[in-house]
Amino acid sequence: MAGRHAGRPVGYPHFKRKGRARDSFRIHHDVTKPTIRLEGHRRLRIPKLGTIRIHDSGKRLARLIAKGDAVVQSVTVSRGGNRWYASVLAKVDQPIPDKPTRAQTARGTVGVDWGIRHLATLSQPLDPATDRPVDLLDPADLRVANPRYLDKWTRRLAKAQRALARTEKGSKRRAKAARRVGVIQHRIAEQRATAVHLLGKRLATKFATVAIEDLNVRGMSASARGTLEHLGHGVRRKAGLNRAVLDVAPGELRRQLGYKTSWYGSTLAAVDRWYPSSKTCSSCGTVIPKLPRDQRVFHCTACGLAVDRDYNAAVNIARHAVPLVEGDVKARGSPVRPASDGRRGRAGRQKREDPPPSGGPPRRE
Ligand SMILES: [Zn+2]
Repeated sequence: MAGRHAGRPVGYPHFKRKGRARDSFRIHHDVTKPTIRLEGHRRLRIPKLGTIRIHDSGKRLARLIAKGDAVVQSVTVSRGGNRWYASVLAKVDQPIPDKPTRAQTARGTVGVDWGIRHLATLSQPLDPATDRPVDLLDPADLRVANPRYLDKWTRRLAKAQRALARTEKGSKRRAKAARRVGVIQHRIAEQRATAVHLLGKRLATKFATVAIEDLNVRGMSASARGTLEHLGHGVRRKAGLNRAVLDVAPGELRRQLGYKTSWYGSTLAAVDRWYPSSKTCSSCGTVIPKLPRDQRVFHCTACGLAVDRDYNAAVNIARHAVPLVEGDVKARGSPVRPASDGRRGRAGRQKREDPPPSGGPPRRE
């Protein structure tokens, strides 16, 4: 035995500490006598804290509770940047399809190449209605753009980080500058999360199978391998700016697709993280030895294929992905697909853990 194991080193437990841990706490209640409850559609009552105004409407959750289809389990209050969020966890009883719709089946499998230059490049368009043929050298129809304001905010982040670097350690101005950086990082994370949610839902509802690269996010943070391969020309600076902020997304898309596909009757599939999706020719299968990062077009030396490199990767991912087994998804803390082993008939209604229906920022009143 080498005396090592995967994951973080194990040690004595530490208490959470201000500034060192994520500022959050969770409140549970007796589900038979709920004390965490909505008051109207705009207010949430939390024991000990009182009533807080919520940002989104609680209408949908209120309706589900009224019908007896949802039971609130707990509320988690957490800080993100300069805001506080209240996330309500509810058990929701609602039908989950056990197979894709006819429309989803007709679209088949979509391959997703995750990037930083573009949020993603797909092997087929999200909406098939375009009658003009897709330009495979510059497939605008297959690209999912990064959120519009990301560039502006990453510039601001760089500025804030420079300001932080110039401050004196332990000073009040440093704490202030650090707070400013935190606020901007949070804004960027929120924008990216919104984009990932939108994309995740569209992929899970429009296709029968969503194929992704298994990026193994934990391994990636150690070596930055895998993402570097997806960097385009001139974006290394941006990525280097704050990799932590931009990198949270690939693992997050995978996590979301895990449960979203199970909600909408589709399947999540993945290619092995060592599969050379970028260097393999999607036409003849030849693996080319080198593909520099700044080379946007894939040229096959064997068959002469010339297509956009991300599109080439997406096609390979679609073709070689294998469906993820239940345990694999479950291990990441997401609900799993209904069992498909002969219990099909009664797998109709499943408990599903709903994501927080109310985002922040709540305001104390
Ligand atoms: Zn080829």
